[in-house]
Amino acid sequence: MKYEAVIGLEVHAQMATETKIFCGCSTKFGSEPNSQTCPVCIGMPGVLPVLNKKAVECAIKTGLAVHSNISAYSRFARKNYFYPDLPKGYQVSQYELPICEGGHIEIVIDGEVKKIGLTRIHMEEDAGKNIHEGGGPYSFVDLNRTGVPLMEIVSEPDIRTPAEAAAYMKKLRAILRYLEVCDGNMEQGSLRCDANVSVRPVGQKEFGVKVELKNINSFRFVEKALEYEIKRQIKTLEDGGKIAQETRLFDSSTGVTQSMRSKEEAHDYRYFPEPDLVPMVPSAGWLEEIRQSLIELPDAKRERFVSEYGLPEYDAEMLTTEKAVASWFEEAVSAGGQAKAVSNWMMGELTRMLNDENRSIENCPVKPEQLAGMLKLIDNGTISGKIAKTVFEEMYKTGKEAAAVVKEKGLVQISDEAAIEKAVDEVLAKSPNEIERFKAGDEKLMGFFVGQVMKATKGKANPQMLNELLKKKLQSS
Ligand code: ADP
Ligand code: ZN
Ligand code: MG
Repeated sequence: MKYEAVIGLEVHAQMATETKIFCGCSTKFGSEPNSQTCPVCIGMPGVLPVLNKKAVECAIKTGLAVHSNISAYSRFARKNYFYPDLPKGYQVSQYELPICEGGHIEIVIDGEVKKIGLTRIHMEEDAGKNIHEGGGPYSFVDLNRTGVPLMEIVSEPDIRTPAEAAAYMKKLRAILRYLEVCDGNMEQGSLRCDANVSVRPVGQKEFGVKVELKNINSFRFVEKALEYEIKRQIKTLEDGGKIAQETRLFDSSTGVTQSMRSKEEAHDYRYFPEPDLVPMVPSAGWLEEIRQSLIELPDAKRERFVSEYGLPEYDAEMLTTEKAVASWFEEAVSAGGQAKAVSNWMMGELTRMLNDENRSIENCPVKPEQLAGMLKLIDNGTISGKIAKTVFEEMYKTGKEAAAVVKEKGLVQISDEAAIEKAVDEVLAKSPNEIERFKAGDEKLMGFFVGQVMKATKGKANPQMLNELLKKKLQSS
């Protein structure tokens, strides 16, 4: 029997506010433990929370960007449970009336656009952090994170493969970063994800029993954890077993998921409306103001890159993941670079070089106009595409213009037929055996001859001329 997976993601995003959601404490990451706390966020009796308007704005902005309905009336609730990192004994979260409902996000899979539905976006406060170190019979609690504002973005079970889950998460991160509502830093935990997954026989309508995978903090792990879990569930069913509804933890060092708690052990959170906070009723004027502030987002940009520049969906998707990358592309094109050529160089050489040094495009030593300048030299035959790689590397190292590099290093393409012919003749004169084999039908040797001539001309022979000359000579020899 063939199975398919059904996946829904719950993503927690830390909202980019200076201060916490219900008090004035700083949200800065990495400070001395418990240095960013006050009576409100450590849950002293008698204190009152005051909602951070900037946090609400972040959530509304996100909702508008992903086509959600912004609730005319929403409120907070108390989610009750005991844990040392939760000094109040409850987490303030939105429950039955979240700030945003519905909406969707578009992903590109195998060159096709797919819509993933959203169930809701709600706001909540983060908990603190238990630290188990020092080796003694005790643990520490750091409450700096307590009360940091989070959005939880819940998807519909529309995702079907681990690759789609990763694409969804990447797209969501891109949107949040465009909006500047979350920095998307996964290592620091600004973006984390719980993945719900079930399997069912292909063709069956009903969903299978779902398992929740907790706290996944990288795109790669989301794929790895889901791949493992889907295999595990299919094997269980094929062996005649049943899937238990449970929460499992992914161990990134072993690549395995392990049971954390079953449905029977699940908490009863005894939700009830938070009595210390008034319901939220955003005014029409404020909503409009936020709507007006929205810039062109990744999906709109991707569509425009396809229609305006004729790029494939895949290229357009890659180039619009970061605002700065998209701008770099558009600058190179407006400086005269042909769109697909610019895209190829950006997604190939440029990305590789930047990644090698862990550099962002903002700090790229090559300027968009300089790439356009180099592409012109390829177009007018001054350099070959192969030599261009050497030129580009040098441009990246030195920040120099393509023309200057070509001149300094003597990299001008040889388009002098007599010079190429001489090199071809020399190579053929040295390769009687290869010529015999070529004539006997081993056509792969064409590559050998081209390679030898390129070597002799230090890669500078005009490839087209070289090919034509070689063919002619081989036929007549
Ligand atoms: P819970 O009641 O356990 O919180 P929800 O229905 O609220 O479950 O869904 C939580 C997440 O799980 C959502 O992202 C949803 O899309 C996803 N989900 C729900 N049912 C399934 C299923 N059978 N298989 C996979 N994912 C599911
Ligand atoms: Zn505080
Ligand atoms: Mg739920």
